[in-house]
Amino acid sequence: MATSGTRGGLRLNAHKERSTTQALRAASPVEKLVLPLDQHAGAPAVPLVKPGERILRGQPIAQPGGTVSAWLHSPTSGTVAAIEPRPAPHRLGASTLSIVVANDGRDERHAGPAPSPFDQLAPEQLRELIARGGIVGLGGAVFPTAAKLNSAAGAADVRLLINGAECEPYISCDDMLMRERARDVVFGARVLLHALAAKTCVIAIEDDTPQAAAALEAAIADAHDERIQLRRVPSIYPAGGEKQLITAIFDVEVPSGGLPADVNTVCLNVGTAAAVASWIRDSQPLTSRIVTITGDGVLEQRNLDVALGTPLAALIYDCGGYTGRMSRLIMGGSMMGQALPHDDMPVIKATNCVIAASALDLQPRAAEMPCIRCGNCAVACPAILLPQQLHWYAKARDLDALETYGLMDCIECGCCDYVCPSQIPLAERFRDMKPALAERLAARTNASAARVRFEARSARLERIESERLAALAKKRQELAKKPS
Ligand code: SF4
Ligand code: SF4
Repeated sequence: MATSGTRGGLRLNAHKERSTTQALRAASPVEKLVLPLDQHAGAPAVPLVKPGERILRGQPIAQPGGTVSAWLHSPTSGTVAAIEPRPAPHRLGASTLSIVVANDGRDERHAGPAPSPFDQLAPEQLRELIARGGIVGLGGAVFPTAAKLNSAAGAADVRLLINGAECEPYISCDDMLMRERARDVVFGARVLLHALAAKTCVIAIEDDTPQAAAALEAAIADAHDERIQLRRVPSIYPAGGEKQLITAIFDVEVPSGGLPADVNTVCLNVGTAAAVASWIRDSQPLTSRIVTITGDGVLEQRNLDVALGTPLAALIYDCGGYTGRMSRLIMGGSMMGQALPHDDMPVIKATNCVIAASALDLQPRAAEMPCIRCGNCAVACPAILLPQQLHWYAKARDLDALETYGLMDCIECGCCDYVCPSQIPLAERFRDMKPALAERLAARTNASAARVRFEARSARLERIESERLAALAKKRQELAKKPS
Protein backbone atom coordinates (compact mmCIF):
# COMPACT_ATOMS: atom_id res chain seq x y z
CA MET A 1 0.00 0.00 0.00
CA ALA A 2 1.10 3.56 -0.68
CA THR A 3 -0.82 6.76 -0.46
CA SER A 4 -1.29 8.70 -3.68
CA GLY A 5 -0.48 12.31 -4.37
CA THR A 6 -2.06 15.46 -3.05
CA ARG A 7 -5.70 14.23 -2.98
CA GLY A 8 -5.19 11.29 -0.67
CA GLY A 9 -6.45 7.85 -1.53
CA LEU A 10 -4.70 4.50 -1.39
CA ARG A 11 -3.08 2.05 -3.74
CA LEU A 12 -4.64 -1.22 -2.68
CA ASN A 13 -4.27 -4.82 -3.73
CA ALA A 14 -7.39 -5.09 -5.87
CA HIS A 15 -7.85 -8.91 -5.88
CA LYS A 16 -9.85 -8.56 -9.12
CA GLU A 17 -7.90 -11.14 -11.11
CA ARG A 18 -9.57 -13.85 -9.03
CA SER A 19 -13.01 -13.19 -10.51
CA THR A 20 -12.10 -12.10 -14.06
CA THR A 21 -10.47 -15.22 -15.47
CA GLN A 22 -13.76 -16.79 -16.53
CA ALA A 23 -16.23 -15.39 -19.06
CA LEU A 24 -19.48 -13.90 -17.88
CA ARG A 25 -22.38 -16.33 -17.78
CA ALA A 26 -26.01 -16.23 -16.68
CA ALA A 27 -26.75 -17.46 -13.16
CA SER A 28 -28.86 -20.62 -12.97
CA PRO A 29 -32.60 -19.93 -12.66
CA VAL A 30 -34.19 -20.34 -9.24
CA GLU A 31 -37.69 -21.32 -8.13
CA LYS A 32 -38.51 -18.17 -6.14
CA LEU A 33 -37.42 -14.56 -6.53
CA VAL A 34 -37.84 -11.94 -3.81
CA LEU A 35 -38.15 -8.34 -5.01
CA PRO A 36 -38.13 -5.63 -2.30
CA LEU A 37 -40.29 -2.63 -3.18
CA ASP A 38 -37.72 -0.18 -1.78
CA GLN A 39 -34.57 -1.37 -3.54
CA HIS A 40 -33.93 2.11 -4.99
CA ALA A 41 -33.33 5.55 -3.49
CA GLY A 42 -36.53 7.49 -2.77
CA ALA A 43 -40.09 6.39 -2.05
CA PRO A 44 -40.90 2.65 -2.17
CA ALA A 45 -42.68 1.39 -5.29
CA VAL A 46 -46.37 0.49 -5.09
CA PRO A 47 -47.48 -3.01 -6.15
CA LEU A 48 -49.52 -3.35 -9.37
CA VAL A 49 -50.15 -7.08 -8.90
CA LYS A 50 -51.88 -9.30 -6.34
CA PRO A 51 -50.96 -12.68 -4.84
CA GLY A 52 -51.98 -15.49 -7.19
CA GLU A 53 -51.76 -13.32 -10.31
CA ARG A 54 -49.91 -14.70 -13.33
CA ILE A 55 -47.11 -12.45 -14.61
CA LEU A 56 -44.62 -12.41 -17.47
CA ARG A 57 -40.92 -11.61 -17.69
CA GLY A 58 -40.44 -7.87 -18.00
CA GLN A 59 -43.98 -7.04 -16.85
CA PRO A 60 -44.21 -4.00 -14.54
CA ILE A 61 -45.16 -5.32 -11.09
CA ALA A 62 -44.80 -2.09 -9.10
CA GLN A 63 -44.98 1.58 -10.02
CA PRO A 64 -43.09 4.56 -8.59
CA GLY A 65 -44.40 5.70 -5.21
CA GLY A 66 -43.23 9.31 -5.61
CA THR A 67 -41.29 11.74 -7.77
CA VAL A 68 -38.04 10.06 -6.77
CA SER A 69 -38.85 6.36 -7.03
CA ALA A 70 -38.62 3.58 -9.62
CA TRP A 71 -40.63 1.01 -11.57
CA LEU A 72 -40.08 -2.65 -10.75
CA HIS A 73 -40.48 -5.49 -13.28
CA SER A 74 -40.69 -9.24 -12.97
CA PRO A 75 -37.43 -11.01 -13.91
CA THR A 76 -39.32 -14.15 -14.96
CA SER A 77 -42.72 -15.48 -15.91
CA GLY A 78 -44.69 -17.18 -13.15
CA THR A 79 -47.08 -16.34 -10.35
CA VAL A 80 -47.07 -13.77 -7.57
CA ALA A 81 -46.59 -16.12 -4.61
CA ALA A 82 -46.88 -13.42 -1.91
CA ILE A 83 -46.45 -9.75 -1.10
CA GLU A 84 -44.99 -9.76 2.38
CA PRO A 85 -42.09 -8.48 4.51
CA ARG A 86 -38.84 -10.30 3.81
CA PRO A 87 -35.23 -9.82 4.95
CA ALA A 88 -33.09 -7.84 2.51
CA PRO A 89 -29.43 -6.82 2.39
CA HIS A 90 -30.21 -3.09 2.45
CA ARG A 91 -32.46 -3.29 5.55
CA LEU A 92 -30.43 -5.33 8.01
CA GLY A 93 -32.21 -6.06 11.25
CA ALA A 94 -35.63 -5.44 9.68
CA SER A 95 -37.83 -6.84 6.95
CA THR A 96 -39.04 -4.94 3.93
CA LEU A 97 -42.21 -5.38 1.87
CA SER A 98 -41.36 -7.56 -1.12
CA ILE A 99 -43.07 -9.21 -4.07
CA VAL A 100 -42.28 -12.94 -4.13
CA VAL A 101 -42.45 -14.45 -7.63
CA ALA A 102 -42.74 -18.21 -8.19
CA ASN A 103 -40.86 -19.01 -11.41
CA ASP A 104 -42.82 -21.24 -13.83
CA GLY A 105 -39.70 -22.01 -15.87
CA ARG A 106 -41.36 -20.97 -19.14
CA ASP A 107 -39.63 -17.60 -19.43
CA GLU A 108 -42.58 -16.05 -21.27
CA ARG A 109 -41.96 -12.44 -22.11
CA HIS A 110 -44.19 -9.42 -21.61
CA ALA A 111 -44.60 -7.29 -24.73
CA GLY A 112 -42.85 -4.05 -23.75
CA PRO A 113 -42.88 -0.84 -25.76
CA ALA A 114 -41.81 -1.33 -29.36
CA PRO A 115 -38.23 -0.14 -29.82
CA SER A 116 -38.06 3.10 -31.78
CA PRO A 117 -35.06 5.17 -32.85
CA PHE A 118 -34.21 7.05 -29.65
CA ASP A 119 -33.01 10.13 -31.47
CA GLN A 120 -36.48 10.66 -32.93
CA LEU A 121 -37.91 11.18 -29.44
CA ALA A 122 -37.80 14.53 -27.68
CA PRO A 123 -35.34 14.46 -24.73
CA GLU A 124 -38.16 14.69 -22.18
CA GLN A 125 -39.99 11.77 -23.83
CA LEU A 126 -36.79 9.76 -23.72
CA ARG A 127 -36.30 10.54 -20.02
CA GLU A 128 -39.86 9.39 -19.29
CA LEU A 129 -39.18 6.18 -21.24
CA ILE A 130 -35.96 5.60 -19.25
CA ALA A 131 -38.00 5.94 -16.04
CA ARG A 132 -40.39 3.25 -17.32
CA GLY A 133 -37.49 0.79 -17.60
CA GLY A 134 -36.90 0.84 -13.83
CA ILE A 135 -33.34 2.06 -14.43
CA VAL A 136 -31.42 3.20 -11.33
CA GLY A 137 -27.75 3.91 -10.69
CA LEU A 138 -26.00 0.54 -10.64
CA GLY A 139 -22.80 1.82 -9.05
CA GLY A 140 -24.39 1.28 -5.65
CA ALA A 141 -26.41 4.45 -4.98
CA VAL A 142 -29.50 3.15 -6.89
CA PHE A 143 -30.77 6.70 -7.44
CA PRO A 144 -33.48 6.67 -10.15
CA THR A 145 -31.71 7.58 -13.38
CA ALA A 146 -34.60 9.53 -14.92
CA ALA A 147 -34.83 11.74 -11.80
CA LYS A 148 -31.10 12.46 -12.06
CA LEU A 149 -31.43 13.30 -15.76
CA ASN A 150 -34.49 15.49 -15.14
CA SER A 151 -32.67 17.51 -12.48
CA ALA A 152 -29.84 18.34 -14.89
CA ALA A 153 -31.64 18.54 -18.23
CA GLY A 154 -31.89 21.97 -19.75
CA ALA A 155 -28.76 23.30 -18.04
CA ALA A 156 -26.42 25.01 -20.45
CA ASP A 157 -23.33 22.99 -21.38
CA VAL A 158 -24.28 19.94 -19.33
CA ARG A 159 -21.79 17.12 -19.86
CA LEU A 160 -22.04 13.39 -19.31
CA LEU A 161 -19.51 11.35 -17.34
CA ILE A 162 -19.82 7.57 -17.53
CA ASN A 163 -18.06 6.05 -14.55
CA GLY A 164 -16.14 2.85 -15.26
CA ALA A 165 -13.54 3.49 -12.55
CA GLU A 166 -14.34 0.51 -10.40
CA CYS A 167 -11.87 1.27 -7.66
CA GLU A 168 -12.96 -0.83 -4.71
CA PRO A 169 -11.05 -4.08 -4.10
CA TYR A 170 -12.67 -7.40 -5.07
CA ILE A 171 -15.47 -5.89 -7.22
CA SER A 172 -15.03 -6.64 -10.95
CA CYS A 173 -18.59 -6.55 -12.35
CA ASP A 174 -18.00 -3.29 -14.23
CA ASP A 175 -14.68 -4.52 -15.61
CA MET A 176 -16.39 -7.66 -16.99
CA LEU A 177 -19.29 -5.60 -18.33
CA MET A 178 -16.90 -3.27 -20.20
CA ARG A 179 -14.89 -6.21 -21.56
CA GLU A 180 -17.92 -8.14 -22.80
CA ARG A 181 -20.61 -5.49 -23.40
CA ALA A 182 -18.68 -2.38 -24.38
CA ARG A 183 -21.09 -1.72 -27.26
CA ASP A 184 -23.99 -1.56 -24.79
CA VAL A 185 -22.10 1.00 -22.69
CA VAL A 186 -21.43 3.17 -25.75
CA PHE A 187 -24.99 2.82 -27.08
CA GLY A 188 -26.32 3.74 -23.63
CA ALA A 189 -24.02 6.77 -23.55
CA ARG A 190 -25.47 7.94 -26.89
CA VAL A 191 -29.03 7.55 -25.56
CA LEU A 192 -28.13 9.48 -22.40
CA LEU A 193 -26.47 12.26 -24.42
CA HIS A 194 -29.75 12.70 -26.32
CA ALA A 195 -31.86 12.52 -23.13
CA LEU A 196 -29.78 15.35 -21.66
CA ALA A 197 -29.31 17.32 -24.88
CA ALA A 198 -25.63 17.19 -23.92
CA LYS A 199 -22.78 17.62 -26.35
CA THR A 200 -19.94 15.69 -24.73
CA CYS A 201 -19.42 12.42 -22.92
CA VAL A 202 -16.33 11.04 -21.19
CA ILE A 203 -16.16 7.36 -20.29
CA ALA A 204 -13.65 7.13 -17.43
CA ILE A 205 -11.82 3.93 -16.51
CA GLU A 206 -8.84 3.05 -14.33
CA ASP A 207 -5.47 2.54 -15.96
CA ASP A 208 -5.21 -1.09 -14.82
CA THR A 209 -8.09 -2.40 -16.96
CA PRO A 210 -6.47 -2.85 -20.41
CA GLN A 211 -9.03 -5.34 -21.77
CA ALA A 212 -11.93 -3.06 -20.88
CA ALA A 213 -10.08 -0.11 -22.43
CA ALA A 214 -9.48 -2.01 -25.69
CA ALA A 215 -13.12 -3.10 -25.91
CA LEU A 216 -14.40 0.43 -25.25
CA GLU A 217 -12.01 1.97 -27.77
CA ALA A 218 -13.27 -0.44 -30.43
CA ALA A 219 -16.92 0.23 -29.53
CA ILE A 220 -16.42 4.01 -29.63
CA ALA A 221 -14.69 3.76 -33.01
CA ASP A 222 -17.55 1.60 -34.35
CA ALA A 223 -20.14 4.10 -33.13
CA HIS A 224 -18.51 6.94 -35.13
CA ASP A 225 -19.67 9.35 -32.45
CA GLU A 226 -17.10 12.05 -31.87
CA ARG A 227 -18.90 13.32 -28.77
CA ILE A 228 -17.68 10.29 -26.79
CA GLN A 229 -14.12 9.89 -25.58
CA LEU A 230 -12.34 7.45 -23.28
CA ARG A 231 -10.16 8.72 -20.45
CA ARG A 232 -8.01 6.79 -17.98
CA VAL A 233 -7.43 7.71 -14.35
CA PRO A 234 -4.78 6.28 -12.02
CA SER A 235 -5.96 3.22 -10.18
CA ILE A 236 -5.92 4.77 -6.71
CA TYR A 237 -8.83 4.04 -4.39
CA PRO A 238 -11.38 5.79 -4.40
CA ALA A 239 -10.81 7.03 -7.96
CA GLY A 240 -14.40 6.10 -8.84
CA GLY A 241 -15.95 8.31 -6.15
CA GLU A 242 -18.23 10.68 -8.05
CA LYS A 243 -16.68 13.91 -6.80
CA GLN A 244 -13.12 12.54 -7.01
CA LEU A 245 -13.66 11.40 -10.59
CA ILE A 246 -15.15 14.73 -11.68
CA THR A 247 -12.10 16.53 -10.30
CA ALA A 248 -9.70 14.08 -11.96
CA ILE A 249 -11.40 14.34 -15.36
CA PHE A 250 -12.59 17.94 -15.57
CA ASP A 251 -10.30 19.62 -13.03
CA VAL A 252 -13.24 21.22 -11.19
CA GLU A 253 -14.38 20.77 -7.60
CA VAL A 254 -17.96 19.91 -6.77
CA PRO A 255 -18.69 22.44 -3.99
CA SER A 256 -19.00 21.25 -0.41
CA GLY A 257 -22.52 19.96 0.12
CA GLY A 258 -23.14 20.27 -3.63
CA LEU A 259 -23.94 17.86 -6.44
CA PRO A 260 -22.28 17.12 -9.80
CA ALA A 261 -25.09 19.15 -11.41
CA ASP A 262 -23.55 22.22 -9.70
CA VAL A 263 -20.61 21.84 -12.09
CA ASN A 264 -22.84 20.94 -15.07
CA THR A 265 -22.05 17.26 -14.89
CA VAL A 266 -24.21 14.15 -14.82
CA CYS A 267 -22.26 11.13 -13.62
CA LEU A 268 -23.65 7.64 -14.26
CA ASN A 269 -22.15 4.19 -13.86
CA VAL A 270 -21.21 2.04 -16.90
CA GLY A 271 -23.74 -0.58 -15.75
CA THR A 272 -26.46 2.07 -15.78
CA ALA A 273 -25.53 3.07 -19.35
CA ALA A 274 -25.67 -0.60 -20.44
CA ALA A 275 -29.06 -1.03 -18.70
CA VAL A 276 -30.36 2.01 -20.60
CA ALA A 277 -29.17 0.40 -23.86
CA SER A 278 -30.92 -2.91 -23.07
CA TRP A 279 -34.17 -1.09 -22.36
CA ILE A 280 -34.24 1.46 -25.17
CA ARG A 281 -32.76 -0.79 -27.89
CA ASP A 282 -34.07 -4.24 -26.85
CA SER A 283 -37.10 -3.38 -24.67
CA GLN A 284 -35.50 -5.26 -21.71
CA PRO A 285 -36.25 -3.42 -18.46
CA LEU A 286 -33.88 -3.67 -15.53
CA THR A 287 -34.52 -7.19 -14.23
CA SER A 288 -30.96 -8.48 -13.90
CA ARG A 289 -27.47 -7.22 -13.19
CA ILE A 290 -23.89 -8.49 -13.12
CA VAL A 291 -22.68 -9.59 -9.68
CA THR A 292 -19.12 -10.52 -8.64
CA ILE A 293 -18.97 -13.58 -6.39
CA THR A 294 -15.54 -13.72 -4.85
CA GLY A 295 -13.47 -14.37 -1.74
CA ASP A 296 -11.46 -17.32 -0.48
CA GLY A 297 -14.64 -18.70 1.08
CA VAL A 298 -16.32 -19.65 -2.22
CA LEU A 299 -15.12 -22.39 -4.54
CA GLU A 300 -15.41 -20.63 -7.92
CA GLN A 301 -14.77 -16.87 -8.01
CA ARG A 302 -16.38 -15.23 -11.03
CA ASN A 303 -19.03 -12.84 -12.38
CA LEU A 304 -22.59 -13.90 -13.09
CA ASP A 305 -25.48 -12.15 -14.83
CA VAL A 306 -28.12 -12.56 -12.13
CA ALA A 307 -31.91 -12.15 -12.13
CA LEU A 308 -32.92 -9.64 -9.44
CA GLY A 309 -34.46 -11.42 -6.47
CA THR A 310 -32.15 -14.47 -6.68
CA PRO A 311 -31.17 -15.62 -3.17
CA LEU A 312 -27.50 -15.05 -2.32
CA ALA A 313 -27.36 -18.69 -1.18
CA ALA A 314 -28.26 -19.79 -4.72
CA LEU A 315 -25.43 -17.68 -6.16
CA ILE A 316 -22.92 -19.29 -3.83
CA TYR A 317 -24.28 -22.73 -4.77
CA ASP A 318 -23.98 -21.77 -8.45
CA CYS A 319 -20.30 -21.04 -7.82
CA GLY A 320 -19.59 -24.45 -6.28
CA GLY A 321 -20.55 -23.64 -2.68
CA TYR A 322 -18.59 -22.42 0.32
CA THR A 323 -15.08 -23.58 1.12
CA GLY A 324 -14.25 -24.53 4.68
CA ARG A 325 -12.42 -21.21 5.04
CA MET A 326 -15.50 -18.97 4.75
CA SER A 327 -15.77 -16.68 7.78
CA ARG A 328 -17.69 -13.53 6.75
CA LEU A 329 -20.22 -12.65 4.06
CA ILE A 330 -20.04 -9.11 2.67
CA MET A 331 -22.23 -7.31 0.12
CA GLY A 332 -20.06 -4.80 -1.76
CA GLY A 333 -16.29 -4.41 -1.68
CA SER A 334 -13.82 -4.87 1.14
CA MET A 335 -13.63 -1.13 1.96
CA MET A 336 -17.26 0.00 1.93
CA GLY A 337 -19.15 -3.29 1.87
CA GLN A 338 -21.80 -4.32 4.37
CA ALA A 339 -21.41 -7.47 6.49
CA LEU A 340 -24.45 -9.75 6.14
CA PRO A 341 -25.74 -12.00 8.91
CA HIS A 342 -26.73 -14.84 6.51
CA ASP A 343 -27.24 -15.63 2.83
CA ASP A 344 -31.04 -15.94 2.83
CA MET A 345 -31.41 -12.54 1.18
CA PRO A 346 -32.04 -11.57 -2.43
CA VAL A 347 -29.86 -9.87 -5.02
CA ILE A 348 -31.18 -6.33 -5.40
CA LYS A 349 -30.39 -3.56 -7.89
CA ALA A 350 -27.56 -2.38 -5.60
CA THR A 351 -25.82 -5.78 -5.34
CA ASN A 352 -22.56 -5.42 -7.23
CA CYS A 353 -20.47 -7.94 -5.30
CA VAL A 354 -20.70 -10.70 -2.72
CA ILE A 355 -17.50 -11.56 -0.87
CA ALA A 356 -17.42 -14.88 0.94
CA ALA A 357 -14.34 -13.88 2.89
CA SER A 358 -11.90 -16.06 4.76
CA ALA A 359 -9.83 -14.75 7.67
CA LEU A 360 -6.99 -14.35 5.15
CA ASP A 361 -9.09 -12.06 2.92
CA LEU A 362 -10.33 -9.77 5.65
CA GLN A 363 -8.58 -9.89 8.97
CA PRO A 364 -10.70 -9.14 12.02
CA ARG A 365 -10.18 -5.62 13.33
CA ALA A 366 -7.84 -5.44 16.34
CA ALA A 367 -8.91 -3.72 19.57
CA GLU A 368 -9.31 0.06 19.27
CA MET A 369 -6.52 2.14 20.85
CA PRO A 370 -6.38 5.87 21.65
CA CYS A 371 -5.57 8.27 18.82
CA ILE A 372 -1.83 9.05 18.72
CA ARG A 373 -2.30 12.12 16.48
CA CYS A 374 -0.09 10.71 13.75
CA GLY A 375 -2.03 12.52 11.01
CA ASN A 376 -2.09 9.50 8.65
CA CYS A 377 -5.86 9.78 8.29
CA ALA A 378 -5.71 13.38 7.03
CA VAL A 379 -3.08 12.45 4.42
CA ALA A 380 -5.18 9.53 3.15
CA CYS A 381 -8.54 11.34 3.05
CA PRO A 382 -9.56 11.95 -0.60
CA ALA A 383 -12.24 14.43 0.47
CA ILE A 384 -9.60 16.67 2.10
CA LEU A 385 -11.20 16.34 5.54
CA LEU A 386 -9.58 16.08 8.96
CA PRO A 387 -10.75 12.67 10.21
CA GLN A 388 -8.89 12.99 13.51
CA GLN A 389 -10.87 16.13 14.40
CA LEU A 390 -14.09 14.65 13.07
CA HIS A 391 -13.51 11.71 15.35
CA TRP A 392 -13.18 13.92 18.44
CA TYR A 393 -16.35 15.76 17.60
CA ALA A 394 -18.22 12.57 16.74
CA LYS A 395 -17.33 11.18 20.16
CA ALA A 396 -18.57 14.40 21.76
CA ARG A 397 -21.66 14.39 19.48
CA ASP A 398 -20.87 18.04 18.70
CA LEU A 399 -23.03 18.63 15.62
CA ASP A 400 -21.91 22.26 15.18
CA ALA A 401 -18.28 21.23 14.95
CA LEU A 402 -19.08 18.24 12.73
CA GLU A 403 -20.87 20.56 10.33
CA THR A 404 -17.96 23.01 10.35
CA TYR A 405 -15.47 20.20 9.71
CA GLY A 406 -17.50 18.95 6.73
CA LEU A 407 -18.88 15.64 7.97
CA MET A 408 -21.46 15.56 5.17
CA ASP A 409 -18.63 15.65 2.59
CA CYS A 410 -17.27 12.36 3.95
CA ILE A 411 -17.83 9.66 1.31
CA GLU A 412 -17.30 6.86 3.88
CA CYS A 413 -14.50 5.40 1.77
CA GLY A 414 -12.65 3.98 4.78
CA CYS A 415 -9.18 5.24 3.72
CA CYS A 416 -8.75 6.81 7.16
CA ASP A 417 -9.58 3.52 8.90
CA TYR A 418 -7.16 1.66 6.69
CA VAL A 419 -4.16 3.77 7.67
CA CYS A 420 -5.04 4.32 11.32
CA PRO A 421 -2.44 2.62 13.53
CA SER A 422 -4.86 2.80 16.47
CA GLN A 423 -7.49 0.72 14.62
CA ILE A 424 -10.19 3.34 15.19
CA PRO A 425 -13.33 2.60 13.13
CA LEU A 426 -13.47 6.17 11.87
CA ALA A 427 -15.74 5.73 8.83
CA GLU A 428 -18.25 3.77 10.92
CA ARG A 429 -18.33 6.58 13.51
CA PHE A 430 -18.86 9.16 10.74
CA ARG A 431 -21.61 7.07 9.12
CA ASP A 432 -23.36 6.79 12.50
CA MET A 433 -23.30 10.57 13.06
CA LYS A 434 -24.54 11.59 9.62
CA PRO A 435 -28.31 11.02 10.17
CA ALA A 436 -28.35 13.38 13.19
CA LEU A 437 -26.50 16.09 11.27
CA ALA A 438 -28.62 15.56 8.14
CA GLU A 439 -31.76 15.92 10.26
CA ARG A 440 -30.50 19.19 11.72
CA LEU A 441 -29.57 20.55 8.28
CA ALA A 442 -32.98 19.57 6.90
CA ALA A 443 -34.74 21.24 9.87
CA ARG A 444 -32.72 24.41 9.22
CA THR A 445 -33.60 24.32 5.51
CA ASN A 446 -37.27 23.79 6.37
CA ALA A 447 -37.16 26.60 8.94
CA SER A 448 -35.54 28.95 6.47
CA ALA A 449 -38.04 27.96 3.74
CA ALA A 450 -40.89 28.58 6.25
CA ARG A 451 -39.38 32.00 7.13
CA VAL A 452 -39.14 32.91 3.44
CA ARG A 453 -42.77 31.83 2.95
CA PHE A 454 -43.88 33.82 6.03
CA GLU A 455 -42.01 36.95 4.88
CA ALA A 456 -43.44 36.64 1.37
CA ARG A 457 -46.96 36.24 2.79
CA SER A 458 -46.51 39.24 5.11
CA ALA A 459 -45.22 41.36 2.21
CA ARG A 460 -48.18 40.28 0.06
CA LEU A 461 -50.68 41.10 2.83
CA GLU A 462 -49.02 44.49 3.40
CA ARG A 463 -49.17 45.25 -0.32
CA ILE A 464 -52.87 44.26 -0.49
CA GLU A 465 -53.64 46.39 2.57
CA SER A 466 -51.82 49.44 1.19
CA GLU A 467 -53.58 49.00 -2.18
CA ARG A 468 -56.91 48.78 -0.34
CA LEU A 469 -56.16 51.92 1.68
CA ALA A 470 -55.05 53.78 -1.46
CA ALA A 471 -58.24 52.76 -3.29
CA LEU A 472 -60.30 53.85 -0.29
CA ALA A 473 -58.55 57.22 -0.12
CA LYS A 474 -59.10 57.74 -3.86
CA LYS A 475 -62.79 56.93 -3.52
CA ARG A 476 -63.14 59.37 -0.62
CA GLN A 477 -61.45 62.09 -2.67
CA GLU A 478 -63.81 61.42 -5.59
CA LEU A 479 -66.82 61.54 -3.27
CA ALA A 480 -65.54 64.78 -1.69
CA LYS A 481 -65.27 66.40 -5.15
CA LYS A 482 -68.86 65.52 -6.11
CA PRO A 483 -71.31 68.41 -5.70
CA SER A 484 -73.68 67.74 -2.82
S1 SF4 B 1 -14.13 7.84 5.32
FE1 SF4 B 1 -14.54 10.04 5.17
S2 SF4 B 1 -13.06 11.01 6.50
FE2 SF4 B 1 -12.34 8.90 6.15
S3 SF4 B 1 -10.96 9.08 4.43
FE3 SF4 B 1 -12.96 8.61 3.55
S4 SF4 B 1 -13.87 10.61 3.10
FE4 SF4 B 1 -12.13 10.98 4.48
S1 SF4 C 1 -4.76 7.89 11.84
FE1 SF4 C 1 -5.75 7.26 13.75
S2 SF4 C 1 -4.21 7.61 15.33
FE2 SF4 C 1 -3.52 8.75 13.52
S3 SF4 C 1 -4.40 10.82 13.80
FE3 SF4 C 1 -5.86 9.67 12.61
S4 SF4 C 1 -7.29 8.85 14.12
FE4 SF4 C 1 -5.44 9.46 15.25
